[in-house]
Amino acid sequence: MITDIKGLHHVTSMAADANENNAFFTKTLGLRRVKKTVNFDAPEVYHLYYGDEIGTPGSVMTYFPFGRMPRGTRGVGEVGVTEFAVPKGSLGFWKDHLSGKGVTGLAEETAFGENRLSFDGPDGDGFALVESDPQGRTPWTGNGVSEEAGVFGFRGARFRLQDAAATGELLTYMGYQKAETEGDVTRYIVEGGNAADTIDLEQAPTAGAANQGAGSVHHIAFAVEDRAAQLRVREALMQTGYQVTPVIDRDYFWAIYFRTPGGVLFEIATNEPGFDRDEDTAHLGEALKLPTRYEPHRAKIEANLPEIAA
Ligand code: ZN
Repeated sequence: MITDIKGLHHVTSMAADANENNAFFTKTLGLRRVKKTVNFDAPEVYHLYYGDEIGTPGSVMTYFPFGRMPRGTRGVGEVGVTEFAVPKGSLGFWKDHLSGKGVTGLAEETAFGENRLSFDGPDGDGFALVESDPQGRTPWTGNGVSEEAGVFGFRGARFRLQDAAATGELLTYMGYQKAETEGDVTRYIVEGGNAADTIDLEQAPTAGAANQGAGSVHHIAFAVEDRAAQLRVREALMQTGYQVTPVIDRDYFWAIYFRTPGGVLFEIATNEPGFDRDEDTAHLGEALKLPTRYEPHRAKIEANLPEIAA
């Protein structure tokens, strides 16, 4: 069994409009934009990262805003809900705040003893705020949401699957422990993690398959401490028959990817070197950062990208 996985590292989704996306995550959810770069495989598209002050692994929501992109269709074989942890007692604030900003899909629920507020992102993304203990995490308050309500980082994610069994087995192999089941949803928790430590598997055998588009999660990344741990995980996954990519340098972490039996694309990402490797903490996310190989084309790349309001 793998013992190096510490919870979530980041969640990467697709969006239509870059400015709408940026405004939602900074001004509405109060996260900090910690990096403005491009899709390393398609530099005509931004890659925007939002998180806590320094983009601590387990807090980082990232987007590829493709511009004119049709919305995805929700269904099985995807991450259905990305869940953020917020302080206990803050959901009243959030309900007023989100509805005041015109956010749709607001619904209060309880699951696994936790109070949740579900809502839709700007492209119909499935989100929930979950009241949680801080577990050593501090919200970013630079965008006007107070420390009493600010997002700590991720709580976890809920996958929607036609058959959850094989994904449950994989999570167990990855070091998660099966916890309770409520209705069609079974919770898995990784002990000793970074607080972004739950994965809920919702089994929906009769639902249609998801179709990816704006508002869909592209992949979900799990955190490992360093490159040595990542190689151990890669070896262990390959020994059980998973097709895992070679290690890819993403400038702010190293990444490997593999497709899981339920259809969700997994990444394993390192906590090193982090988002402050090429910018001062005080100015994270302000300047357009490019991987070295694109620097010679900076002028052309910048001219092709829409301007994003601060
Ligand atoms: Zn990723």
